[in-house]
Amino acid sequence: MKVSPIHQLLLLSFTILSIVFSVTTASKVEFSYIDDKGPQFWHLLENSSLLCLKGRRQSPINIDVLEPKIRSIRPSDVRVKNIDEAELAHIVTTLEVAPGKEEEGEEGRGEKFLPAQFEIGGEAFNLLQFHFHTPSEHRVNGVHHDVEMHMVFKDRKERISVVAVFFDIGSIKDNEFLKSVLIKEIPRPNGSTKLCNIPLKKLFEDINYIQNAFTYLGSLTTPPCTEGVRWWVNDKHVQYISSGQYRRLKNTIGNFYVEISKKAYRKLSDSQDINAGIIAGLYDNVPATVSKSRG
Ligand SMILES: [Zn+2]
Repeated sequence: MKVSPIHQLLLLSFTILSIVFSVTTASKVEFSYIDDKGPQFWHLLENSSLLCLKGRRQSPINIDVLEPKIRSIRPSDVRVKNIDEAELAHIVTTLEVAPGKEEEGEEGRGEKFLPAQFEIGGEAFNLLQFHFHTPSEHRVNGVHHDVEMHMVFKDRKERISVVAVFFDIGSIKDNEFLKSVLIKEIPRPNGSTKLCNIPLKKLFEDINYIQNAFTYLGSLTTPPCTEGVRWWVNDKHVQYISSGQYRRLKNTIGNFYVEISKKAYRKLSDSQDINAGIIAGLYDNVPATVSKSRG
């Protein structure tokens, strides 16, 4: 197919816009899913990103549903409310929902959270933000789902835990949760807008309050690929969306995933002892010190 000048321009601008940022307390890493800032070069972006190549507990992974003991751990005291108001940001390769900027926060008391919380080993984790990937980053028995949503939680010690929810095309009707995020006027790349009435409680009901999730210790899936992230992948509770919703989401955030086959197919038992992790409080000594991060 011949590419017209306008197409070339569009492609070029998309390439430029595809460079996104991951913010950590230590550093701000500029990365992309394509070209010289793409996944195969992430470890070169800066020192702290070396883990993207050298890490032994990297995410995403392929989930072998026959690994049984990994379901015996679950978060406790899961509490959730519907979200009255939040901010939707279009960060080029994702749509991210976080607490609104104008809302009243306690002065000097740190970050604001969305109304969801759970405990791991007596520590409370609060919901910082959630965002979407098309297709899914995790695979189940080697197969991607259409969409993966990441809810990024953090505790007082800056440790990160991410709850993953899969969505597949399979409904004529729009999915109500996704509908509350995929509003009519999606902001342009790098733009944001206000969202209202997000039915988060129903979503938690649908994933059985994270009580049947596949859990493992992994990493952020974007630079600096920080490890020590406790994942809860709700592979047994896939949510269904309409094909129209899927197309809209995909057309907004692109179709990117990281092909890290060796890591993605690592056997959990080779690199970590899940049960030892529970006794030790579910974490390594190296916490994921990330204040605002993409999961
Ligand atoms: Zn993510």
